Amino acid sequence: MRRDPRFDILFEPVRIGPVTAPNRFYQVPHCNGMGHQYPSSMAEMRGVKAEGGWGVVNTEECEITHTSELTSAIECRLWDDSDIPVLAKMVERVHAHGSLAGIEPAHLGAGAANTYSREIPMGPAARPIDLHEPVHARAMDKADIKAFRQMHVDAAIRSKKAGFDIVYVYAGHDMTTLMHFLQADRNDRSDEYGGSLENRVRLLREVIEDTKDAIGDTCAVAVRLAVDEMLGARGISCDAEGRDIVEMLAELPDLWDVNVSGWENDSATSRFTDEGYQTDYVSFVKQVTTKPVVGVGRFTSPDTMVSLVKNGVLDLIGAARPSIADPFLPKKIDEGRVEDIRECIGCNICVSGDFLGAPMRCTQNPTMGEEWRKGWHPERIAPKTADETVLIVGGGPAGLEAARALGQRGYDVTLAEGRGVLGGRVHIESQLPGLTQWRRVADYREYQISQMANVAVYLNSPLSADQALEFGADHIVLATGSDWDTTGIGRSNRRAIDGHDAGSVLSVDAICAGQSPTGPVLIFDDDYYYMAGVLAEKLRADGHDVTYVTPTADVSHWTHNTMEQARIQTRLMEMGVEIVPLHNLTGIRSGHVELSCVYTDVVKKVDCASVIPVTMRNPKQDLFWALRDRASSLTRIGDCDAPGTIAAAVYAGHRFARELGEPEVSGVPFKRELPALAVD
Ligand code: ADP
Ligand code: SF4
Repeated sequence: MRRDPRFDILFEPVRIGPVTAPNRFYQVPHCNGMGHQYPSSMAEMRGVKAEGGWGVVNTEECEITHTSELTSAIECRLWDDSDIPVLAKMVERVHAHGSLAGIEPAHLGAGAANTYSREIPMGPAARPIDLHEPVHARAMDKADIKAFRQMHVDAAIRSKKAGFDIVYVYAGHDMTTLMHFLQADRNDRSDEYGGSLENRVRLLREVIEDTKDAIGDTCAVAVRLAVDEMLGARGISCDAEGRDIVEMLAELPDLWDVNVSGWENDSATSRFTDEGYQTDYVSFVKQVTTKPVVGVGRFTSPDTMVSLVKNGVLDLIGAARPSIADPFLPKKIDEGRVEDIRECIGCNICVSGDFLGAPMRCTQNPTMGEEWRKGWHPERIAPKTADETVLIVGGGPAGLEAARALGQRGYDVTLAEGRGVLGGRVHIESQLPGLTQWRRVADYREYQISQMANVAVYLNSPLSADQALEFGADHIVLATGSDWDTTGIGRSNRRAIDGHDAGSVLSVDAICAGQSPTGPVLIFDDDYYYMAGVLAEKLRADGHDVTYVTPTADVSHWTHNTMEQARIQTRLMEMGVEIVPLHNLTGIRSGHVELSCVYTDVVKKVDCASVIPVTMRNPKQDLFWALRDRASSLTRIGDCDAPGTIAAAVYAGHRFARELGEPEVSGVPFKRELPALAVD
């Protein structure tokens, strides 16, 4: 198939200083938890994006010196020449597909604790560092500034040696020294680098000029700038200093990569923002520069992309998450297969890898991070090894992905779903406030399956063990999901809570199914991810008095890893949800509950008519036990094996499909990247 001519504009080349991007698809720098620790994984992942049609593929932020390092986050490094080959490998993978490779050298200053190198951080002023660690940064003196400029020059020269086409100067995300100098509330210097905006911009201007002098003959120099901190008059804003900075430096860089900061605003989730949420902030940039402009906004719709270019908002369509969820997004548009795009759902599971010090995972793309170590390609999969049939019971994320990937391999697949609709938990949860886009997990797979003659779907088909056996399939896969527990057992209570069997307890599943609680509601969050917060929001919006109790210090505690926690807590507080942190639920009585302080065990009573424990889920395994001794090939996948994230369920479905009929691997089932033992 050929692409729709209305998308032709997206495939025009764009000149960026001395280099030319082959099209307008631009993978902006993004963290991935691989970096210096898993460099082959990083190189292969970036190469797959180039193969998928991204005309520019960038690294994540790249530490340019051991005196500013982000341990325990795993970023790439250019501390000295010994790091060059590692990055050259990525460049080689990207160039192999005709794309440009870009690098984002970064000095984190007061954003890094230097826990590995033990060097003293430095920044514009003597202040505690941003991370909650007992570390202060020292104020940079003139010698420090000279050394700082030289670090950027050295990094630029090393980047060029590694083969990069685009080298960044990075003043974004409230995270780098170059941005810290711009910020009036961080930079209270009285020398020529502080005070007036012109003075605060001086260091950024010098570093851009230094970089251009060093490598600008063959490499494009891009500036990544946060044009709005979303703090109104308290910070840099696109109506004031953000605009002024771009005007002052307008023609200096070869490319403007503009966004909002901090990172939690730049990578906001779909629960709080829609596609294109940054456009209003960055649209002024093209009016004040003739240089190409790239911006982001979780763009997955080619029509939106076209309108951004045609309306003079952006020249290049920037993407981090859409390129993670679908590395082949550009190719699919090019080949007239727009409906095959696996759209990002805006959940930020990918981001959590950075906080957890682990390679990135993606809810939509189970191959993300597995390209090198398992050889998984997002679009290709080995054909079936035998003419066998597979029955999958359950059409949630696990069952759907197993059906899709097995279907792609050529197996004859039957998918039986008890409900009248596919999607399992994503179908249900996508009806909760803010989670509409999560439905894309099911939509993508449902459409793919609908195109496969070898995959049959039966809805309204809750199977018993006998019925499952009657299909006579060679393999039975159970993807039957899980139910929320109502006893209160979980992390904080190892035994059922006293009174849990009283009539006032309602399950999460009942609320999701539309049941309305009576009277004031108490939600007990011992789960810490999104569910309790979303339910509190829903029930409060429905007009209930809601009390939210959790043993942690803040609501939805794990969502710090998806950068949503502050927004969730703000929303609940603004809606009037009563929050009781640092308390365990220890007793459920008629008309009230007993809460126990997690430190002192002091008990207090809170009145409520209904209680919703959000503590744990029980895998639905009745079918498994009924079939265990009767089916010749029986496998549990996803939540019915062990409840987890949607990403984990999709991965489990994909993994089953990949491994069916393949020789069993003994030992570690993936390639490892071992640190080389130093020669003493
Ligand atoms: P996962 O996240 O592991 O995919 P879900 O809970 O999202 O799990 O999906 C499980 C799906 O399995 C649900 O849609 C549910 O209706 C379906 N299901 C559970 N038991 C049966 C059964 N015996 N027969 C058919 N479908 C079932
Ligand atoms: Fe998008 Fe979620 Fe995948 Fe991140 S993990 S790329 S937010 S679908």
